[in-house]
Amino acid sequence: MSNDKIMNKAVFLDRDGVINFKRDGYVKNVNEFVMLKDSAKAIKLLNENNFLVIIITNQSAINRKLLTHDALDKIHAFMKEQLSKDRAFVDDIYYCPHRPDENCECRKPKPGLILDAILEHDISTDKSWFIGDSDSDMIAAQLAGLATIKIQENGSLFDIVSKLVS
Ligand SMILES: [Mg+2]
Ligand SMILES: [Zn+2]
Repeated sequence: MSNDKIMNKAVFLDRDGVINFKRDGYVKNVNEFVMLKDSAKAIKLLNENNFLVIIITNQSAINRKLLTHDALDKIHAFMKEQLSKDRAFVDDIYYCPHRPDENCECRKPKPGLILDAILEHDISTDKSWFIGDSDSDMIAAQLAGLATIKIQENGSLFDIVSKLVS
């Protein structure tokens, strides 16, 4: 018998430009939330391969007063509905509502949200990845001890995930 705790493997995903189309300005309502082609299929593949799928996203539009927490919840409910059409799901969503000038501990490139998720979901960093489209994603992930994959903005998550699980 071993007392070693079984830890989870995870793929952390940035949201805008990775799961949904990154537009000019912010995604402020469901009409502005457009899923990228095959991102649901990619997430389903992660689900099937027993990776936790956790979104880590900066949403400074909230503290810029362009978006409410409630409106963001609606956008995420809409995203989950889109994912479920492909029988895909995310395990958790962490977002930072702060503006850069607030100097919080959670806005990427700081690793705060990722570190919270690692603790809350018993994630082994050795078996986990972060996929994002910006340098701040890569820096935050590296500070949290994760391997990183940079995707082209609005690129194919499915191509990357297929390689990752093979
Ligand atoms: Mg992004
Ligand atoms: Zn923050």
